[in-house]
Amino acid sequence: MVEEPAATVGVLALQGDVLEHEAALREVGAAVRRVRRPSDLAGIEGLVLPGGESTTLSKLLDSSGLFAPIAEAVAEGLPTFGTCAGLILLAAKVEDGRPDQRSFAALDCTVRRNGYGPQRFSFEGVAEPVDALLGAETGPLPAVFIRAPLVTEVWGDAEVLAREGQDGGGAPVVLRQRQVLGATFHPELTSDRRVHRLFMDMVRAAAGRSPGAR
Ligand code: GLN
Repeated sequence: MVEEPAATVGVLALQGDVLEHEAALREVGAAVRRVRRPSDLAGIEGLVLPGGESTTLSKLLDSSGLFAPIAEAVAEGLPTFGTCAGLILLAAKVEDGRPDQRSFAALDCTVRRNGYGPQRFSFEGVAEPVDALLGAETGPLPAVFIRAPLVTEVWGDAEVLAREGQDGGGAPVVLRQRQVLGATFHPELTSDRRVHRLFMDMVRAAAGRSPGAR
């Protein structure tokens, strides 16, 4: 049997926790490419928007000329996964953002920046999968929240895959809408690879590849 080459996933590398995402993606079988300029987007089969600062990322996306081509690729169905600030960049509505902050508006949800408030600015909690896609029976995922956005509203085609807290009764923390996946926490900072694995399944399915080893 001829082995299929690994799917190539781009990681937006303008700011934020790029290295951790690269390592997590390699663990689930991706070939990784850093995306810093529009030409880096050619041929990628998926794209990760890491955490960082969404206001800064929005500015850097504009100055690097990446905003428009990424918006187009996302609209055309490129599998895209945003964590924390990356999810803010994908949300349809952003509260407490800067007035000039832009988003790709690919996830039907409202997020409030730094929405967990001062007491829970950054914390380690859990995310309970509530959808079979993430393995609803497989137990809670460790979840590191760092000045995380709070999802306050979900509508339309966005599905909630996990909620905060052991009983899964908290705010939505993993969302999916067609080829777009978002997490308000940082799955790249723990060793549980369920969320990255799901993203790679989305990448392989969109590219018509065979599913990877699980
Ligand atoms: N609070 C940050 C923002 O608004 C997100 C923090 C993070 O990505 N860890 O962009």
